[in-house]
Amino acid sequence: MERIKHDGVLIVGAGLAGLSAALAAAPRKALVLTGAPLSQGCSSAWAQGGMAAALGSDDAPDLHAADTVAAGAGLVDPAMAAILAREGPQAVRTLAALGAPFDRTVDGDFATSLEAAHSRSRVARVKGDQAGRAIMDAVIAATLSSRHVTVRAGCRLRGLLRDAEGRVRGVLAEEDGQLIEFTAPATILATGGVGGLYGVTTTPPELKGEGLALAALAGATIADPEFVQFHPTAIDIGRDPAPLATEALRGEGAKLIDGAGEAFMGRYHPDAELAPRDVVARAIHAEREAGHGAFLDARAAVGNHFPDEFPAVFAACLSGGVDPRVQPIPVAPACHYHMGGIVTDADGATSLPGLYAAGECASTGVHGANRLASNSLLEAAVFGARAGRAAAAFEDPKTRPLRATAAPDLPSEALARLRVAMSRDAGVVRDAEGLTRLLALIDALEAAHGRAPPLVAARLVAQAALDRPASLGAHFRADGPADAAPVRTFLNLAPPASSIAAE
Ligand SMILES: Cc1cc2nc3c(=O)[nH]c(=O)nc-3n(C[C@H](O)[C@H](O)[C@H](O)COP(=O)(O)OP(=O)(O)OC[C@H]3O[C@@H](n4cnc5c(N)ncnc54)[C@H](O)[C@@H]3O)c2cc1C
Repeated sequence: MERIKHDGVLIVGAGLAGLSAALAAAPRKALVLTGAPLSQGCSSAWAQGGMAAALGSDDAPDLHAADTVAAGAGLVDPAMAAILAREGPQAVRTLAALGAPFDRTVDGDFATSLEAAHSRSRVARVKGDQAGRAIMDAVIAATLSSRHVTVRAGCRLRGLLRDAEGRVRGVLAEEDGQLIEFTAPATILATGGVGGLYGVTTTPPELKGEGLALAALAGATIADPEFVQFHPTAIDIGRDPAPLATEALRGEGAKLIDGAGEAFMGRYHPDAELAPRDVVARAIHAEREAGHGAFLDARAAVGNHFPDEFPAVFAACLSGGVDPRVQPIPVAPACHYHMGGIVTDADGATSLPGLYAAGECASTGVHGANRLASNSLLEAAVFGARAGRAAAAFEDPKTRPLRATAAPDLPSEALARLRVAMSRDAGVVRDAEGLTRLLALIDALEAAHGRAPPLVAARLVAQAALDRPASLGAHFRADGPADAAPVRTFLNLAPPASSIAAE
C-alpha cells in the first residue's frame, strides 16, 4: 500500500471548516483530502441564509452569545459561545477581504437580516440566498492560490492511522479505488454532518457521518449525538436531497399556512413564524400528520422580487412546478444539521492526541440542544481557523503509525433502508418504540455488512436518543416529559487511547 508522508497539517473535508483550517495553517503546509470535487458534496456551498455576527451598531458580541445560549436549551457552553460571538465580526470581515460579496448598505456597512431566535438583525447575507456559494467561491479561490495548501479531491476517508500509544498519525484514504496511507503530525477532521443518513434531508448525500464514526471507533469522546436539527421548510417537491426555502423568507414576512390557507403558527408559539426552529418543525410535522398540509406563503412578502432576492429558492420551486410569486410553497421538515459531534476544546483538539475536529462534525459546545440559525457557517470559519493554527503548532511525535484496515463500506440498498428508518424513527418526533426498532435494524445491517461508518454514526444518534427519555431542544420524545435539568451526553465507543497498546 502506498504511504505518503505529509510534513504539515492533514485535513479531511473541504467545506468552510476544512478550508478555513487550511488557510490558517500557514506557513505550515496543509494537505486537504476531500471525497467530492471542490465546492461539491459540502453543506457550506448550499447555505442560503448567511452568517451571523454582531455587525450592527445596535448589536454586541455579548447579545449574540446570549441568544446562542438561549437557543441551545441549557446545553450550550457559555465560554465557547462567547468565543464564537467575539470572533464573529472579524471572521465575516476576513471572508469579505477574501472576496465574499456580502450585501452592503448604501454606507458600505454589512447589510444584515433578522432570523428566528436572534434578538438583533445580524445575519450577513449575499444576494438573498447565495451566501454559501459566494463564500465558498472566495475561500476556494484563496485556497487554490495559496502555495502552502494542496488539495486532493476524490480522496475518501476510510480509516484513521494510530501509533501504539493511540495517537492519531494520519488517515487511510481511498483514491481511484486504491487505499493510501497519509501520515502527518496532526490531522483535522472537517467532514460535516449526518444528513446523508436521513431519507428526508437538505444536505448533500456525501455527508454520512463517516469522520464522526471513525473518530468514535478510535476512542474519541463524542457529545450530544441525539441532537439533530430539522429544518422546518424544506421544499416538498419530491427531490432528494430536498431543496431549502431559507429561514430568511420568514424573516421577510412569509407566512406558514395550511391547505385551506389558514396561518397556523400563532397556535403553536407567540413568536409565530419566528419561533425557534424545532417548534416550527414540529408544528409543520403536526399539520402534515393531521392531513392539513403545510405551505410557505411568500406571495405578499416577496412576490415578484423572488428572482432577484431569492434566486436559489425561486429556481428550486420552478423545477418542481411551483411559482412562488403566485403560489404557496409546499414544505416539510428535513434533517439539516447535527449539533452533536467529536468533542473539541476551543482550538479544535479532540480527546485523542494528534486529532483535531472542526465544523459540523465537531462538538465545541456552541450549539447545545438546538443551533441558533446562521451560527454554523460562523462556527466553521472561527473554529476551523483556530484548529488550523493549533494543528500547525502541534509537535510531531515521530512515532510509527500502525497498519490500519479500511472500515467496511455500506451497500447502497442497505443505506437506503437506513435512511428511511432514520427519518421515520429518529426524526422530528421520536419515541422508545421507534428508536428500538431503528436500533434493531442497525444491528441487522451491521451483522450483514460489518461496522460501516454510516451505521456507527446512525447508532450514535439512535442510542443517545433512546437514552434521553425527556424532550429537549431539537430532541422531541412523544413518550416523555420535558427535560427539567438538562445535562450533556458524553460517550466513548472505544477504550481510552492509552490502552491501545494492549489491544
Ligand atoms: C441547504 C443548507 C442551508 C444552510 N444554510 C445555512 C446558513 O444559511 N447559515 C449557516 O450558518 N449554516 C447553514 N447551513 C449549515 C452549514 O452550511 C453547515 O453546517 C456548514 O457549512 C458545515 O461546514 P463544514 O465545513 O463543517 O462541513 P461541509 O461544508 O458539509 O463540508 C464537509 C466536507 O467533508 C467532506 N467529506 C465528508 N465525508 C468525507 C469522507 N468520508 N472522506 C472525505 N471527505 C469527506 C465533504 O465532501 C465536504 O468536503 C445550511 C446547511 C444546508 C444543508
